[in-house]
Amino acid sequence: MDGTLSPNDISHIVTADREHVWHHLTQHKSYESADPQVILEGKGMRVWDQHGKEHLDGVSGAVWTVNVGYGRESIARAVYDQLLKLNYFAGAKGSVPGALFAEKLLDKMPGMSRVYYCNSGSEANEKAFKMVRQIAHKRYGGKKHKILYRDRDYHGTTIGCLSAGGQDERNAQYGPLTPGFVRVPHCLEYRAHEQGAPSEGYGEWAANQIEEVILREGPDTVGALCLEPVTAGGGVIVPPEGYWPRVQEICRKYDILLHIDEVVCGVGRTGAWFGYQNYGVEPDMVTMAKGVASGYAAIACLVTTESVFDLFKTDASDPMDYFRDISTFGGCTAGPAAAIENMRIIEEEGLLENTVAMGDYLMGKLEELKGKHKVIGDVRGKGLFQGAELVKDRETRVPMDEKLVQAVTGDCMKQGVIIGATNRSVPGYNNTLCFSPALIATKSDLDQMVEAVDAALGRVFG
Ligand code: PMP
Repeated sequence: MDGTLSPNDISHIVTADREHVWHHLTQHKSYESADPQVILEGKGMRVWDQHGKEHLDGVSGAVWTVNVGYGRESIARAVYDQLLKLNYFAGAKGSVPGALFAEKLLDKMPGMSRVYYCNSGSEANEKAFKMVRQIAHKRYGGKKHKILYRDRDYHGTTIGCLSAGGQDERNAQYGPLTPGFVRVPHCLEYRAHEQGAPSEGYGEWAANQIEEVILREGPDTVGALCLEPVTAGGGVIVPPEGYWPRVQEICRKYDILLHIDEVVCGVGRTGAWFGYQNYGVEPDMVTMAKGVASGYAAIACLVTTESVFDLFKTDASDPMDYFRDISTFGGCTAGPAAAIENMRIIEEEGLLENTVAMGDYLMGKLEELKGKHKVIGDVRGKGLFQGAELVKDRETRVPMDEKLVQAVTGDCMKQGVIIGATNRSVPGYNNTLCFSPALIATKSDLDQMVEAVDAALGRVFG
């Protein structure tokens, strides 16, 4: 740490935090017996807390965000320079970084054509839902308005996004939710037996479940299907072989827009620029947020094809016939300025290549760990986005108790290694350890992470 904060400053900050800040996802009763943790600094893969303790960050800022690592001076400078020139202008006006980032981003997304700026993953998804609803009104007399979402997927925290949320523990207590969202089954092969799926051809079977829902609802009522390319918080679910081609086919067959939520997978996490690109999918709408600027500024994007865009560009005599939406902070220039530099770093430092190589290395290490600890039932992931599902028994695959899974992450934290776990999301299945370090991770960082997990599993399960 650079020592600019005195012990008195730090003590003041911790007290101010405990007394005045309402933390995300936190039961504050716990701060009656222990201080909140305050992160003071970060550099590369590591952060330092108020006690000067160093932590290896295995989750890129808790939620898969800091893809290029902490302390990037060139991003800070790009934002600084831009803010001095022009910090903000919203509405119908363009900006220099907004135009240039859109051009750079679309270069990585063949087939996609327009970028709509806003400032969080939830907001980007809400905007996609609004587009689907408006298209239904414009073209189908309001009928083709339903949005399908998948069991165990997550799309954000607003009431609309929770309505499209496949994690019931997050939704409980916030009803009534919004009508018009319909759930399709998950595609986690490790749990296929619980769905009554056949032992062969699971990918196609799981995709066919989507078609069954469409037929049940009526294809003329379904406007879009919203999916994560690899499910994140719902348990790191990598789509099975044969799933995506069939999903694409079904969407085309019934004229259903395919909306891919790349809020976690986007901008490198899986080793491709976007998760869907691993599977040859051609989406109609793509949403992204977290890794777009690695958390150096808030930015989210909804990207569409030209044909979706064209539906809103009409010569209709009705002057109200356009996408009637705005995002106040979609006009902040810090976001695209940071995003341009973030993308340059990923390209120039070869971080996609590193993600593929280190992803393979991490998978190998986790497989070794599975050989050693029988509580690990399944290891899965793509790039630097991996999970280890803990079970009570490998035969029956009964999920491990959430408290014991949390004990593993807690033990790692004591060792100075931050890893994640599915947490109070899918009832009964909060049993997957999650690893999503920055894309700059080296073998020795990953070794440190896996060694901590090894020791923690040994202590918790003996
Ligand atoms: N989609 C996915 C897949 C996410 O994981 C998240 C956040 N964890 C969101 C959307 C919502 O993003 P935000 O928190 O920026 O609103």
